[in-house]
Amino acid sequence: MSVRDTNILEPSDLKYLLIDSLRLYSDNVVFIDGNNPYRFSINKKTFYVLIKNVHESGKGRSNPDECRIQISKTPNFNQALNSHQDVIVLGYFADENVFTAWNPYLLRDRFNLRQTVSVYSRFSIQQEASIYKIASYRDNNGQSIISFKPDYLGLYLENLSHIHLLSDQELKKLVEISDNLNVENVQGQVMVDEQEFTITHTRYKRDPRFKDIVHEAYGHRCAMCGIQLELIEAAHIVPHSHELGTDEISNGLTLCSLHHKAYDRSLIYFDSTFKIFINEKKMEYLQKVGKDSGFRKFQTLGFESIQLPDNYTLRPNPANINLANKIRGII
Ligand SMILES: [Zn+2]
Repeated sequence: MSVRDTNILEPSDLKYLLIDSLRLYSDNVVFIDGNNPYRFSINKKTFYVLIKNVHESGKGRSNPDECRIQISKTPNFNQALNSHQDVIVLGYFADENVFTAWNPYLLRDRFNLRQTVSVYSRFSIQQEASIYKIASYRDNNGQSIISFKPDYLGLYLENLSHIHLLSDQELKKLVEISDNLNVENVQGQVMVDEQEFTITHTRYKRDPRFKDIVHEAYGHRCAMCGIQLELIEAAHIVPHSHELGTDEISNGLTLCSLHHKAYDRSLIYFDSTFKIFINEKKMEYLQKVGKDSGFRKFQTLGFESIQLPDNYTLRPNPANINLANKIRGII
């Protein structure tokens, strides 16, 4: 049997991987709570996602192409199963940067009978997915197992109820349609194999008044590093997609493009005393996936705390700050 040198991510790393992956599909992504399974909403639909690293099947199995994950019913997982929400089990294979998904409805039946369940996939299918974006096969029981690039996790979740019915060719067609629609705000129904699929790419439009008010309050400077240079953006503290993500000044601040992205990507954050922190957990994750280049430089760019408007009524509301950190998966 060949020995594969696979990269392994910790559960907290996998949480950020999930958030980042879902945002490739839609801006309307909120991390709600949970600890593997994690509870997310995307386009206002809520899911539990249990994620584990895919690994070799081990001794006693004859097919070197076979890989698997093993899932035990932890109290957290039980709680998710007992909720009325969909519970998805995902494998992640870091070497190819692809997810693998098993039909959650069939899995639910198996969890009714057993405490621990193993689900299998194929290394070759994951490789194919890394090249062709999505790939699937049917196992000996006729079950569809789908591997896909992170860009399509949202598409998968949005069409969870019937996506496992599609053939490999039809899945590739669905992904192609989704790619062609991924230009701006879009919500569409498309037909594949006489079945209707939903594709929702939400990209926010900002309220122009919000931008003017926030820019004025912060003197057209990044509140984290002070830069102006026409690189300033009005950032929402609680994301606009969230029901509490208002366009009030107490939910905004100006950030440069770099700090805005870093804040929305959970790389940097601030607490209710306005002190700025680097999110160490996210950094560890980026190191493991080989995306940490430039970190030292990034660390030196900012202030220790947010540069606030003198007028107290224009400052961020602590409740917004705390909620924002929770939604971004930080606290
Ligand atoms: Zn900045």
